[in-house]
Amino acid sequence: MPTGLVHDPVYQRHATGPRHPERPERLEAIDTMLHETGLIDAVVTVPFHTVDESWLLKMHDRNYLHRIHAACSYGVPFVDVPDSVVCRASELVAKQAVGGCLEAAKQVMTGQINNAFCAVRPPGHHAERDRSMGFCLYNNIAITAEYLLTEYDLSRIAIVDFDVHHGNGTQHLFEDRSDVLFISTHEDPNHQFPGTGFSDEQGVGAGKGYTLNIPMSVGSDDEAFEKVFNKKVLPRLREYQPQFLLISAGFDAATNDLLGHLCVSTQGFAWMSQQLIQIAGEFCQGRVVSILEGGYEVNSLKQAVAVHIEALLHASVPSVNG
Ligand SMILES: [Zn+2]
Repeated sequence: MPTGLVHDPVYQRHATGPRHPERPERLEAIDTMLHETGLIDAVVTVPFHTVDESWLLKMHDRNYLHRIHAACSYGVPFVDVPDSVVCRASELVAKQAVGGCLEAAKQVMTGQINNAFCAVRPPGHHAERDRSMGFCLYNNIAITAEYLLTEYDLSRIAIVDFDVHHGNGTQHLFEDRSDVLFISTHEDPNHQFPGTGFSDEQGVGAGKGYTLNIPMSVGSDDEAFEKVFNKKVLPRLREYQPQFLLISAGFDAATNDLLGHLCVSTQGFAWMSQQLIQIAGEFCQGRVVSILEGGYEVNSLKQAVAVHIEALLHASVPSVNG
């Protein structure tokens, strides 16, 4: 079965201005890379629709959705915080980002594709139930997890977030539940936005033990990531035995990223991607949907996305018995 790709020029219509790091050029660079490498011919483009508002309401408050609508309709430059820049098209683009992620998840579940990468913007993992944060409007990955749990009657979904920033929104949306395991590696919150994701944040109530935060010290490189993957990330995933793996694929832990201070190489991203995809082959018939989060130095970004998609393409074909 093929690897699916959610990509479309519409995702470049979320205009954030010339000085904003989360800019349309990120996806232009990925698109150029896809053609230069020939990867565009190796993947299947996943068609998508604008998400139905009922799915947004599973993870966000109605008042928050109204604020996004109002800001975009009246030309207000941002929602809630100046980081969360919007233009008039942003509400529609963000709804299409979620729509693309849900369609990718659906196609994986129905066996049309093996796995998928969603090259969408705006990103989502900082978005909380009732407010925007960072550069995020709707929490794409959280809504996708909820969609899978609801529509396909799954009970164990793992989200691995290797963005350089802690996925605070995703954590908070699921921290009191055991049907979503959230694992995040990120730069030490003492030095990095959003200032959460300490190792003692491990979930609450019924969700205790289903949040795993792994702060990485400034300068952490491939070797440091290999160590925490082998000691913490991969063993916890094997213990949990997810039925579906979602990846918050932020590539801003790359050396030279504009916002991060870690030192993951392209080879490092390839290794991490391969390890996660192998786990999916072991426990969930290879079901993976990976969703773009950060990554702000476009050359590093396009190289990392290339090896990430290659890892998805080279996933072993799952056996019938899974
Ligand atoms: Zn980030």
